[in-house]
Amino acid sequence: MTDDINQFVLPIIPIAPDGFKSGFVGIIGRPNVGKSTLMNQLVGQKIAITSPVAQTTRNRLRGILTTEKSQIIFVDTPGIHKPHHTLGKIIVKNAQAAINSVDVILLVVDSSVPSGGGDRYIIELLENTKNPVILGLNKSDQQSSEYQPLDESYGNLIKEYNWPIIKFSALTGEGLETLQNTLIEKLDPGPYYYPPDLVTDQPERFIMGELIREQILQLTRQEVPHSVAVVIEQVEETPNITRVFAAINVERSSQKGIIIGQQGSMLKAIGTAAREQIQKLIAGEVYLKLFVKVEPKWRQSNLRLAEFGYRLEK
Ligand code: GDP
Ligand code: MG
Repeated sequence: MTDDINQFVLPIIPIAPDGFKSGFVGIIGRPNVGKSTLMNQLVGQKIAITSPVAQTTRNRLRGILTTEKSQIIFVDTPGIHKPHHTLGKIIVKNAQAAINSVDVILLVVDSSVPSGGGDRYIIELLENTKNPVILGLNKSDQQSSEYQPLDESYGNLIKEYNWPIIKFSALTGEGLETLQNTLIEKLDPGPYYYPPDLVTDQPERFIMGELIREQILQLTRQEVPHSVAVVIEQVEETPNITRVFAAINVERSSQKGIIIGQQGSMLKAIGTAAREQIQKLIAGEVYLKLFVKVEPKWRQSNLRLAEFGYRLEK
């Protein structure tokens, strides 16, 4: 290989100064507690899609926060729950893999609602980890002071461990500086793992697909969302516009009907909203063409899962 080639493919990763700290922080918790919102807020850009519908995040996604003295790589995991089908099992397996492959674990709970069995289930999964754990009480903005007993109910769950407890709002940003400092404290000295200006390890194409899926989740509140896989089939870049061709795969033709809507109205709404988001992502003009395909039982097929980009991690 010549130097010429290297110049094009290798991003610049600086040598870390003395005392630089870095490492991987696994964000884990039940679905809908605000893990993806938190990661977006911490890295300062929307890289993980969020929604009021549980089970929005499917793949493991990394968000990178670089400061002068540290680099934290957040690993957003899909919410942990009892699995029902192949996709569900992959999601839980990946979450478990994340627990053991990171340096610090940030267990996020929704402190605006009482703790429950789902929280205990996750704490049990963490019982044997040697990694430091921090308990994050999210959604502090939704709490009024009379709800303090809720914090206590989470504190009681982890009484036998010495985990620090930090309260914050991923939505407003309140308390996140303290969270960030505590996380850095727990990290060991280490190198830059990624170039300082990178905010995610995912290629743009993947995020484009996720932005489309996000609009489907938000606009169709039916059986459809969990059966949807978006595949970006083609991206054509020209100086003035980027053309994106994406397939929306569903499992049944009834779902195809819902996504297309009356005279194509739903598909149009999805396309318009997703196009706006993608334009923000790439900071340029976008033409977005969406196709809807029926792919029966793709969630049960390992082959299809792999094709649609869901990795099973060891
Ligand atoms: P995840 O499933 O844990 O990744 O949760 P998401 O990040 O997708 O968030 C689920 C829902 O909770 C979304 O509607 C978010 O807007 C909302 N949410 C997340 N964090 C906060 C917060 O700090 N305060 C409030 N009020 N809502 C939040
Ligand atoms: Mg999520």
